[in-house]
Amino acid sequence: METPDIEKLISQLIKHIDPDPDREGLKDTAARVARSYDKLYSGYDIDPKSLLTFFDSEQYDEMITCRDIDFYSTCEHHLLPFYGKVHIGYIPDKKIIGLSKMPRIVEVFARRLQNQERMTSQITNFMQENLAARGVGVVVQGKHLCMQARGVEKQNTLVTTSAFRGLFKKNINTRSEFISIVHGKKS
Ligand code: ZN
Repeated sequence: METPDIEKLISQLIKHIDPDPDREGLKDTAARVARSYDKLYSGYDIDPKSLLTFFDSEQYDEMITCRDIDFYSTCEHHLLPFYGKVHIGYIPDKKIIGLSKMPRIVEVFARRLQNQERMTSQITNFMQENLAARGVGVVVQGKHLCMQARGVEKQNTLVTTSAFRGLFKKNINTRSEFISIVHGKKS
């Protein structure tokens, strides 16, 4: 990312918004915002495949669920944050991945300009394609500042998206089991 250009652009933006852009409080804002973008948009620079380490499932063929993974992303329509929880479940076929990898995979797809629907399918497809799992389910619950900060009476709106592949799509019992775990009715 070309930091000096971004700094310049942010300075122009600040001048456009604030009648007193040279005041003390705004002095280093452009530089700080540019630096924060390195983190907020770091997902473009990481190949999620590089995060994967596989283990033998040792005949374990039941559902594996990682619930309540925090994510922070940026809405591509308004450049405002959306954030919340991702829940991932899969049924392995011979190979499993380290549990700590799932939050890292979420991170790669969240740290981009995104919409929640695409982020949900990207995580699902990535899991399905790389694990060759018997099924994958992903549920994302997000709060969008573009809804909350701009509108009234939308303060607590939670947007839920989901995607299912393999057994999670075909088998209603598998999907129900996953949804129960997501809602904390089963663990
Ligand atoms: Zn938005």
